[in-house]
Amino acid sequence: EGLVVSFGEMLVDFVPTVAGVSLAEASAFVKAPGGAPANVAIAVSRLGGRSAFVGKVGDDDFGRMLSEVLKENGVSIDGVRFDGVARTALAFVTLRSDGEREFLFYRHPSADMLLTPKELHLEVIRRAAVFHFGSISLIAEPSRSAHLTAMEEAKKAGALLSYDPNLRLALWPSQEEAKIQVMSIWDQVDIVKVSDNELAFLTSNASLEDNAVMSLWRPNMKLLVVTLGKDGCKYYTKNFHGAIASIKVKAVDTTGAGDSFVGAMLWGIVKDLSSLQDEGKLREVLRFANAFGAITTTKNGAIPAMPRKAEVLEFLNKA
Ligand code: ATP
Repeated sequence: EGLVVSFGEMLVDFVPTVAGVSLAEASAFVKAPGGAPANVAIAVSRLGGRSAFVGKVGDDDFGRMLSEVLKENGVSIDGVRFDGVARTALAFVTLRSDGEREFLFYRHPSADMLLTPKELHLEVIRRAAVFHFGSISLIAEPSRSAHLTAMEEAKKAGALLSYDPNLRLALWPSQEEAKIQVMSIWDQVDIVKVSDNELAFLTSNASLEDNAVMSLWRPNMKLLVVTLGKDGCKYYTKNFHGAIASIKVKAVDTTGAGDSFVGAMLWGIVKDLSSLQDEGKLREVLRFANAFGAITTTKNGAIPAMPRKAEVLEFLNKA
């Protein structure tokens, strides 16, 4: 079974101990491992798939803790690097009472931004069946060059490139720059997942209609997926497109639902690459990914909330 290699940031999220407060109001925080690419690698592994993480953390207690979390979860850490000077990135995250998420990032610069092309573990990258990444590693040098080099090496070695922009506007110098850079690798990727909000931002159009989505389609893409939160997802390939409803759950914390969805989707694809050409198989993969994402919203945190395969199958049987 193919290896999923996930590239990019891993960081510590600090989340208020009580829900619905602003960061300023919060009086205590719990720490939680985070970073979308790391979450994706853990989701693949949670389902029994093979995954590796490539990125950099600080040579500090937080960085070592994060690397340990990957290892404990069965993710290969051969590609993890430690920066002797820069710290592991931190993010304070809260879900305010108006339902909006508020982020405060500490990256001045953080270790993940300092990964260089020379530090890339090329053997791991060249073994990838799917090479997955976001856009945060594209924001600043030298991680941007490392990202582009890793993509190129993975592609040359035959990997499918998978992209979830995971747009964090606050980290970019401007909205214009964010859009240009997020789109700068659009023509090179095989699999893309965007959320409904990202779709609106990238197309400058609030519509979820097929023709709005199709403006993000490129000739060499194999799959474009739009996630719709509680409403599930839409999928587009060269030959077919459609939608799959999610399953109703009582959501308590949606953190990491998108990353979990992506991890489950890539796990399904890597198990059977023909699912990219076969609509019936693809619908099964996405139905499973919807369920995996839905279940993670029913518990607090991203990583602790990810179910195992048997739990997802049981949930689907009951649905
Ligand atoms: P994130 O907020 O983590 O960045 P995202 O916006 O990328 O996430 P979502 O669309 O929120 O991703 O969620 C991913 C998938 O998880 C959805 O497509 C859906 O299948 C499932 N999901 C998320 N929220 C819910 C919910 N409240 N009820 C049922 N399923 C959900």
